[in-house]
Amino acid sequence: MKLWVGIDDTDSSRGMCTTYLAVLIVEELEERGLSVVGFPRLIRLNPTIPFKTRGNGAVSFLVEGNLDDVMDVVREKIEEYAMLEDEKTNPGAVFVDAENDRVMNALSKFALRAVRGVISLDEALFIIGKYMIPHLRYKLGRGLIGALAAVGLDLDDYTLEVLAYRKPERFGTPREYDEESFFEADRKTYPRTWDTVDWHNRVVVAVPGSPDPVLFGIRGDDLAAIREAFDTVETEPVDRYMTFVTNQATDMHLIHERNTNKLEDYHSYIVRGKVVEEPSTITGGHVFFAIETRFGDVKCAAFEPTKQFRDVIRELKAGDIVEVYGSMKKNTINLEKINIVRLAETYVYENPVCPVCGKRMESAGRGQGFRCRKCKTKALEKVARRVERKIEEGFYEVPPCARRHLSKPLVRMDVSKKHIFR
Ligand code: ATP
Repeated sequence: MKLWVGIDDTDSSRGMCTTYLAVLIVEELEERGLSVVGFPRLIRLNPTIPFKTRGNGAVSFLVEGNLDDVMDVVREKIEEYAMLEDEKTNPGAVFVDAENDRVMNALSKFALRAVRGVISLDEALFIIGKYMIPHLRYKLGRGLIGALAAVGLDLDDYTLEVLAYRKPERFGTPREYDEESFFEADRKTYPRTWDTVDWHNRVVVAVPGSPDPVLFGIRGDDLAAIREAFDTVETEPVDRYMTFVTNQATDMHLIHERNTNKLEDYHSYIVRGKVVEEPSTITGGHVFFAIETRFGDVKCAAFEPTKQFRDVIRELKAGDIVEVYGSMKKNTINLEKINIVRLAETYVYENPVCPVCGKRMESAGRGQGFRCRKCKTKALEKVARRVERKIEEGFYEVPPCARRHLSKPLVRMDVSKKHIFR
């Protein structure tokens, strides 16, 4: 029998990672003669969900074998490795007959909602009950939501990530790696790999800072290039590694404005509008502005971690037409990308220049126009000067160091006029 196994919510901010647990399970299944088909899938769900530990990731894989045998392995590994003592860790695992189209269709719809919206645990339990899906539930079992979604999500678009894991005795200690080697890996393989490093901000993006077992991850859409990057980087010993098929870098979380009639917190959108409130920077370096949209005025933000992206945003002027890409939280869209559709023509009004000496005229008194004291020339009104804009029309994105897992980097986008921060 072919079974889809989905797992989620096994980790906590103090350690572990659901992908690592999945790798241990896959290894054990293979050891017991059960074959895993293809690569496991790392599915990123709604990035705004408050319960997430870090990246709201869940894992699924296809295995050929008997339900009881598979379930035994998954149960053993969750009980041995999941951070069950952490209040916020609520594991769930599901086992779905891959040939049951009725269930798979229902899960496909559920999954897309889990990527774009907010789902209650009751709904996940209802689906499990309705289709009698074998499952494992620990504590609240909130992980069942992600587990079902990881099984059901259709990957019309997908990318790859190879994750390398640390030796267990090193978990929780600072990671040892040669920064330069990651820059070298990027130099050799970009754009077939991306977000390994951030050149401008001098950050190695591929190496996380959290206490989980991941040593580094190489993202891309070409396995040979990922392999080359993997072989180029120099790090502490890699204990094990796994290639995942993933919905990272696909923009799958974004709801286009034509597909919704309202904007809500905890959802992510693509919305077009006209700048009505020009950007201002608050303490901490966060930049805010507002656009007029078909939903009313919407506040937008480019937060401090988005670094040089804010320099673009600060140049927006009233009247510019933009399309913003990002998640709504506290009624504010946190920008991941922006498409500047049309720059407004903006003018400043200045005192006229004297046609004789070329110096700027001065006011001749209230309501009396302007004059050049030296040449005695006069003019009635100020003159308009078109402001040279420092930004261009087209797409701009946050730099790699601020990229969200689901955000599609411009390097993957088939659009003209892209401005890529690298
Ligand atoms: P990591 O990235 O390290 O694996 P995480 O960020 O994935 O950690 P989890 O521990 O998996 O965080 O916690 C996310 C929880 O939110 C899970 O229980 C998952 O089932 C649930 N969840 C995911 N998507 C949704 C959604 N759209 N609506 C409601 N709950 C969700």
